[in-house]
Amino acid sequence: MKGICVLGATGSIGVSTLDVVARHSDLYKAVALTANNNIDLLFEQCLIHHPKYVVVVDEKKSVAFAEKLINTDIADIKVLSGAEALEYVATLDSVDSVMAAIVGAAGLLPSLAAAKAGKTILLANKEALVMSGDIFMQAVSESGAQLLPIDSEHNAIFQCMPAGYTSGKQVKEARRILLTASGGPFRQMPLDQLASVTPAQAVAHPNWDMGKKISVDSATMMNKGLEMIEACILFAMTPDQIQVVIHPQSIIHSMVDYVDGTVLAQMGNPDMRVPIAYSMAWPDRFESGVEPLNIFDVRRMDFEEPNLERFPCLRLAYKAINLGGTMPTILNAANEIAVEAFLSEEVGFTDIPLIIERCMDQFEVRPADTLAVILEVDQQARVVAKQVINELTP
Ligand code: NAD
Ligand code: MG
Repeated sequence: MKGICVLGATGSIGVSTLDVVARHSDLYKAVALTANNNIDLLFEQCLIHHPKYVVVVDEKKSVAFAEKLINTDIADIKVLSGAEALEYVATLDSVDSVMAAIVGAAGLLPSLAAAKAGKTILLANKEALVMSGDIFMQAVSESGAQLLPIDSEHNAIFQCMPAGYTSGKQVKEARRILLTASGGPFRQMPLDQLASVTPAQAVAHPNWDMGKKISVDSATMMNKGLEMIEACILFAMTPDQIQVVIHPQSIIHSMVDYVDGTVLAQMGNPDMRVPIAYSMAWPDRFESGVEPLNIFDVRRMDFEEPNLERFPCLRLAYKAINLGGTMPTILNAANEIAVEAFLSEEVGFTDIPLIIERCMDQFEVRPADTLAVILEVDQQARVVAKQVINELTP
């Protein structure tokens, strides 16, 4: 029986993870669940999974949550609050696996704590890896932690790697990764209409049901940019070895091109329970609850090269990784601020890349070799991105 801690239990990935956990209650027990503030959903999850610990980051909400537990069958759950409590539950002795499914930079410290503690990390929180690539991978290798990618593309690539593959290892015979992307909701929209798209249009993804931030990232294709950086880190590849491929049907989840001309692809219905179940069962497999792929319904698969004029965020991600050091941290922080501003209708959709690029231009690259530098630069980039937004919206 393995103990699992689900960081970000109330999010899209968290909910899918608990669905898989419930299907395999003979193998997995949810030891700790965390949420930022959605205590109603968290309460329902606790009734089903009865974890030992719960973290509600928001202090007031955690008090309200503790009150909800009084006189219930789950009154013995220990309720913690504050961001430090996330690190505490991610490193408990009774926790074997940590699902890192907090969105954004907020997930960095608990994910890194799990890596240092030698846990099996099921990593959905790509922002953490983009910010801290080198030190994250170093923590994994020093502690002997196991790092399994949850992002569907990286999970697909991992599955296409040779038997016994572990994250961070270079495979010399793998010459290229073909990183697939749906192209999001605006793949074919006339370019002059992009400036006026609304948050509601941007979060309506054609193939995947996800949190708001990653949905906007998919619409700008910053998501693919972050994933390109994530792939460089996870598979020890250079940016020029990663080819982004627009594949609107989202059936192939990525491919690895080998030196002998073999291209291996992983396919399946677009449902995050596939990579989640794969990583939870690894190195075996078990059922995920996902419908079998009906290849006759798919009928055809299309592939296109991405247009960088339509998707400037993808160009910015290549620029950031090629500059290296702290630039991916700056890219990520500026993007988080720009997406928040777009979602609250302070700025337009096409302002997102503008804000990020102006912010990146104001920084010199520094080596990203300590956590202190990364956290400092992350904060500075947020301040600068907000200044840029103020200049845009007088
Ligand atoms: P979501 O918005 O649905 O959920 C986010 C979760 O993080 C929630 O549980 C929320 O309570 C928690 N959270 C938010 N801010 C927090 C904070 N400051 N402190 C602590 N907890 C906080 O997001 P999601 O779609 O589930 O995505 C989660 C992560 O997984 C992201 O990094 C995303 O890029 C990645 N991912 C998601 C998908 C997907 O299909 N949803 C696919 C691949 C990768
Ligand atoms: Mg993905």
